[in-house]
Amino acid sequence: MHVQLAGALAPVLADVTATGAPVPRVVDDGWSADPGTATAMLSSGDGRHGAGVSVPLGRPRPEQVSHVAGMVQDWVVDELRGTTATNWPPCPHHPTTHPLEVVVRDGAARWSCPRDGTPVAVVGTLR
Ligand SMILES: [Zn+2]
Repeated sequence: MHVQLAGALAPVLADVTATGAPVPRVVDDGWSADPGTATAMLSSGDGRHGAGVSVPLGRPRPEQVSHVAGMVQDWVVDELRGTTATNWPPCPHHPTTHPLEVVVRDGAARWSCPRDGTPVAVVGTLR
């Protein structure tokens, strides 16, 4: 896998693992139509549920983490469909209403409340 994609995925997968959410298997598909992008596949354990993930190369790390976090979040929420908790990661201020969203602020990718914009945690530090 491309080192920049691996570096962007690491903090996001740490958050998935730390919060007990389903962790995707990351499969290097070794192919990208765009030389400015590195790609891989996110896959569930049984291979049933896959989704692509990509990162724009040569961009600042917080921007890459933010890009990847949104795709991993979509995969996790899809994987949780049919369970009682599909808002991942839940907003600590509104736990039954919406998940957090990633924004780049002050030089870091941060999970933030989409309603009031409050930053909750730097991506990679959820517990
Ligand atoms: Zn909120």
